[in-house]
Order: sequence, then structure tokens, then C-alpha cells
Amino acid sequence: MILHFIFLKKEEESDKRQFEFEYIQKMAQFFKIWIKEKFDRDYEVQCDEMVVKPSNLFRRIDTHTLIRDHEARGKDVYHFYLANFRPLWTDCTCEGYYAENFGMITWQSLKDSDDSLFLAEKNCTTVSHEILHEMLRLAGRKKHHQEVHELWTKHLFNQLEFEQYDENFKLTNQKPMFLTVDTKELKND
Ligand SMILES: [Zn+2]
Repeated sequence: MILHFIFLKKEEESDKRQFEFEYIQKMAQFFKIWIKEKFDRDYEVQCDEMVVKPSNLFRRIDTHTLIRDHEARGKDVYHFYLANFRPLWTDCTCEGYYAENFGMITWQSLKDSDDSLFLAEKNCTTVSHEILHEMLRLAGRKKHHQEVHELWTKHLFNQLEFEQYDENFKLTNQKPMFLTVDTKELKND
């Protein structure tokens, strides 16, 4: 099985944002290990950048564009898009969207400095939200949609901490490199 992360950039940014892409490559390796440890599934991970050409108002890129891209690349690969736009419609409680073997989030780009903690807090957490939907769906948990969102609410509003991992993908109490939803909070099914 393959999990393929795709980072969307605008044409004029094509030489920039190297720090973010390097972070994404590390994050992909992290999620490979996280998925194996938490859900016992083996994924090969891949990372790519996709340059989005300026488009006119009537052909704005949206979630459907990404779903078509996913289908064209091959539906048996789990494609995960780190997008530079918000989904026009989603039933997720974060700025993301999922479908079978498909995930996307609105990637929050760095403002000025190279700040991996910002990327962990704003993006890595949301990626874990969408991956959790897919893992629970694959496990046949019928109420996963609700379960993930109850967990997400606890993280955002009930002071439940995200799990913190260091650059070696180990749990840490120090400054984390990666942050995820706390799967211990899920009830055993
Ligand atoms: Zn969701």
C-alpha cells in the first residue's frame, strides 16, 4: 500500500517553501511509523510537490479537482493533498476533507521564519485527523466520522493534549516536531 503526500504550491512560489517541503518529507516518514504502530498497517510513503498554475475565476481548483487528480493517478493509492485552498464544502470539523483512500487539508503556510512547531500545530494535527478517519474506516468502525470529531472537540475545547513526538518519532515532553490526535482516547471497539 502506498500513501502519497502531494504539496500544492503556486507557480510563483516554485523555488520557495523548501523548509516546508523538507518538513513534509519528514512528516510523511513519521506517519508511516505512526500508522504502523497505531493501526498495524504497512504503507510505503511518497512525497511530491504539485505546482498549481494560475487559473481563471471559472476554473478554480477545488476538492473535486483533487479527487479527479486522485482518480487519474490511481485510486488504489492513498493520496493526501496538502492544499493551498480551503475546501468549498466539507463535513469535517477541521479544514480538511476525506473520502475513500483520499485526504486533503488546507496547509497553513509559514509566515516568516522557519518554525517546525507552527507546522506541527497547524498542519500535522489536521493530517492526523484525516488519516484517523481513513484508518478507522478501513477497520470497519461505522461511527468513525463521529468518533474522530468527538476526539477533535476534546483536543480543541476540553484541554486534551495532542500526542507529542520528537524528530526520531518518539513520544516526548520536550518541544515536539510532530503532533497528533491522542488515539488512546478512542474506545476499543
Ligand atoms: Zn473529520
